[in-house]
Amino acid sequence: MNSVSEKPFIHLFQVAGGYYCYDVNTDRIVTLNKDEFTRLQDITERGMSWESRQTESLNRLKEEGFLKVNRVRKTKHPETDYLKNYCESKVEGIILQLTQQCNLRCKYCAYSGGYDNRTHSNKKMTVETAKKGIDFLLEHSRDSERLVISFYGGEPLLEFKTIKVVVKYVEEKVEGKEIVFNFTTNGTLLTEEVVDFLVEHNIFITISLDGPENVHDKNRRHVGSEKGSYKTIMSNLEELAKKYPDYFSKYLSVNAVLEGDDMQQVREFFETNELVKNLTVMPTLVSTTNSKVRRTMSEKFFEEYEYIHFLTMLYAIGRIPGREKLGGYMKGKITRLASGRQEIDRKTRTVLPEKWHHSGPCLPGVMRLFVDVDGNFYPCEKVSEENKDAVIGDLENGYNLEKMLDALNIEKKNECHCHECWAYSECSICIATLNNKETEEQMKTRCAGVRRIVEEEMKDYCVLKELGATFDWSEENQGLERCGGEYVWT
Ligand code: SF4
Ligand code: SF4
Repeated sequence: MNSVSEKPFIHLFQVAGGYYCYDVNTDRIVTLNKDEFTRLQDITERGMSWESRQTESLNRLKEEGFLKVNRVRKTKHPETDYLKNYCESKVEGIILQLTQQCNLRCKYCAYSGGYDNRTHSNKKMTVETAKKGIDFLLEHSRDSERLVISFYGGEPLLEFKTIKVVVKYVEEKVEGKEIVFNFTTNGTLLTEEVVDFLVEHNIFITISLDGPENVHDKNRRHVGSEKGSYKTIMSNLEELAKKYPDYFSKYLSVNAVLEGDDMQQVREFFETNELVKNLTVMPTLVSTTNSKVRRTMSEKFFEEYEYIHFLTMLYAIGRIPGREKLGGYMKGKITRLASGRQEIDRKTRTVLPEKWHHSGPCLPGVMRLFVDVDGNFYPCEKVSEENKDAVIGDLENGYNLEKMLDALNIEKKNECHCHECWAYSECSICIATLNNKETEEQMKTRCAGVRRIVEEEMKDYCVLKELGATFDWSEENQGLERCGGEYVWT
């Protein structure tokens, strides 16, 4: 029997047309024949020795640099020694939580009380704090050519006055850098004054719209009255599209939260509704991270999900004609697929270093510094504000480097499992996906989920390659990055 560390560090998987090996050291996927596949299974899963199962072709793979046995021995994120420099001069963006209040009460909202996270309150950010946040960003971004400034809530448009002040403040103070303003809004407060301002200052907005009226209004209702918000949003969007058609098609996208079994209706809506069918729709599953209740999807939901997946694959191999003919919803799916594929093709590693860290964490406080209404810092807006380990500084005292390094090296919480995990370089665990209270069992379940998704993505990639996909979609995925297990625009 061989010991764990003598085994090639690989993960074997099959798709209908072939046999594959994901090689952890090189982070590459290798095509095998059935005999090679079985022999590698004997070694990695049945404890047989390399000597007894080797063949000429397997030895050739070794000579080409695959099938190494190396594992990471010590957890140390490669950016650990540079984080201080990054946060001194290379901060890329800031997210200002303008308010914890909202005029809607969406049932799955992180503030709804259904999550171990924040809840709605009347707290809001003062103009002074918002300006301090901008000053902090400018003091720490000397070497950044592009800054992304985002507004966050609750509903950010409840604090439209602060948005106006901040945008003008930035425009006056910043020279020689590209500035991108953006925020997500529930779309109910897009008055003429708001819209004129957004257009004048080229502000990107993402509208939360879950689908047709019956689907959308199930969750997205006004506070107090329980009245759905669909009609207001659609009428606001109609006005906006009429007055500013160019802005509407270029600066506006949709975020649709998927829940339950309404997916077919949702897809048809986003593919056929005249107003929204050409917008890019980013579908997200209702969040389960930090949820107090167990959230499950019906079988019908998964059937439809698989169908959409199938359509996306057909598009990828050219069996569905041009992108322009696809509904916005499909475009969102394709964008994700394209981005995932681009990541796979970037691999250049030859061996895992002795000291390393699984993929997943960002440079906390550098990429998407989140500042709450009181001026406390978090790595991003997805991090639970209940997780006190996630507070990485504040506007009064600046960064807390020690906490930032802990967030960067989150693997230390789980390192004995990580070093033997084949998904090490494709992991999506970061401080935002943990609440710091996970038991060993919960962590194992979470990791099994990560590995399942990684394997599915690899299988898609292999199937598409087999079917001759060229993935020639460079314009589809610009500015899209994988982050906390999801894709986000950067
Ligand atoms: S999936 Fe889990 S065990 Fe694997 S690298 Fe990620 S955190 Fe570690
Ligand atoms: S989701 Fe995770 S990786 Fe992404 S910005 Fe937030 S903390 Fe960083």
